[in-house]
Amino acid sequence: MFGRYRRHFLDDSYAVSCDATLVDVDDGWWLLSDTVFYPGGGGQPADTGTITLDGASHPVHDVRSDRGVVWHRMGLIAGLDSEVHCRIDWDRRYALMRHHTLLHVVNTIALRAHGGLVTGALIGEGVSRVDFHFAEFNRSMLPEFESAVNDVVERNLSVSSGTITEAEFLARPDLIRTRNVIPPIEEGKVRIVEIGTLDAQACGGTHVHSTAEIGRARIDGFENKGKENKRLYWVLAS
Ligand SMILES: [Zn+2]
Repeated sequence: MFGRYRRHFLDDSYAVSCDATLVDVDDGWWLLSDTVFYPGGGGQPADTGTITLDGASHPVHDVRSDRGVVWHRMGLIAGLDSEVHCRIDWDRRYALMRHHTLLHVVNTIALRAHGGLVTGALIGEGVSRVDFHFAEFNRSMLPEFESAVNDVVERNLSVSSGTITEAEFLARPDLIRTRNVIPPIEEGKVRIVEIGTLDAQACGGTHVHSTAEIGRARIDGFENKGKENKRLYWVLAS
């Protein structure tokens, strides 16, 4: 059922708009033949934007995914098979893509240098926070951590995505960066995001094409959330 509805953000994270046909309506939520709206997940919030119907533009109040099928909360009644046009708020999405890709670099350094696994993340337009389970980590390690992240960013590594089978995925625990959450498996496949030859990890979110687009990153806060849980806040130069 997933393949019937096209999710442009999976193979083109830079797609800002698309035409679509209204396939189903459920209590004000719309299902479309095509969408550019990311429904949220993996710490990345759902997109905002508009859907145009009969020349009138309407805000999308919320977006959610039900087993890979994306629903848009419009609060409007419309006829099935209506032709519509979707457009996301690109400035917001691009900021989220830069921050999301940054967190891939951050969690790669956290794992390699400190054995850290992600226990939670909240990606933002201005500041993102990520929680790690570390056996040993303290405030004195922050400058070196920040510097290692920026070294990767400056290498201008390409970011790409593809899918592997569930069997391949289960044989590679290195693809999982979260301590308690298993990434979604859809129709026996798992989406993998690679940063050059540096890193590969399972992820269903949206990312920039190269690490240079992330820009300079800075740790903007650090909190102890229990003995082995640490929270880091990150901001990006505009
Ligand atoms: Zn990702």
